[in-house]
Amino acid sequence: MLLHFVGMKTLYLQHHKLTLRFDPALSCVGHDEVLLKIRLAGICGTDLALFNGYANFNGVPGHEFVAEVVETGSEVDANLKGRRVVAEINQWCGECDQCARKHYSHCLNRRVIGIRDHQGCFAEYLMVKANTLHIISDSIDDRQAVFIEPLAAALRIVEQLQSHDYRDIMLIGAGRLGQLIARVMILQEKPLTVVVRHAQQRQLLQRLPLDCIDESAVEVNMVDVAIDATGQPSGLALALHALRPQGVCVMKSSYPAPITVDLTRLMIDEIELIGSRCGPFSSAIEMLENGLKVLIKPLEF
Ligand SMILES: [Zn+2]
Ligand SMILES: [Zn+2]
Repeated sequence: MLLHFVGMKTLYLQHHKLTLRFDPALSCVGHDEVLLKIRLAGICGTDLALFNGYANFNGVPGHEFVAEVVETGSEVDANLKGRRVVAEINQWCGECDQCARKHYSHCLNRRVIGIRDHQGCFAEYLMVKANTLHIISDSIDDRQAVFIEPLAAALRIVEQLQSHDYRDIMLIGAGRLGQLIARVMILQEKPLTVVVRHAQQRQLLQRLPLDCIDESAVEVNMVDVAIDATGQPSGLALALHALRPQGVCVMKSSYPAPITVDLTRLMIDEIELIGSRCGPFSSAIEMLENGLKVLIKPLEF
């Protein structure tokens, strides 16, 4: 099926440089794919890391978006046309061992929108697999819907901590993802301390039931769970520093280059280090529909 257009504007990343390009190529919508017209896109720390060389990505970046379905593949429900949607950033194959176990975000052949082997959303149009779509109801507007992907990533931490017994939490980093993590973690109803660097970050967290502290106030043996969302190796080191013995360190950062951290404490104090990436879109959508919108309101632009 030919597209309606003979080209589109894109933001193209090559050798750490972002340029506005006009891509004149005509393409076909695959039988199991849909063509999306991007309505709104968000920029996150991962995008900034990509610009600095993370994942060695050349192409159109961007993975946080809300869009409208404008074309459907031959095996896709044509009623999707015109619907407002978001898409999971992991485009899975459906055939590998991980997909068979329904661990789609860890598909062995996965392509990742705007990060790995897949065009991103900083463009007018984007093609994705239809089975990775989530329809957005009218109760969630575009400015809220662009938060679904990072909110899902924040919720992944809750999933991963479900089987752990912990009393309190420290979040290090209050950038955009950190702000969302804070809003999700307060719902766990355990004391939450957030390490903030900037006055504006602190301001966005005021009125929430949590404590904000400076980095200099972080001491040893402070918490059972420490989350690094700084994107900096120093954030991970600080998280390990703050943990009590047998604590859990959640790594929610992507670092542009290999990092050096003293891991000996993990052995001595039996600390668990958990990597945490993508999370459940459906839970994020449900949370927005059930009132989290109020909490993210100050984060909207
Ligand atoms: Zn992101
Ligand atoms: Zn797969």
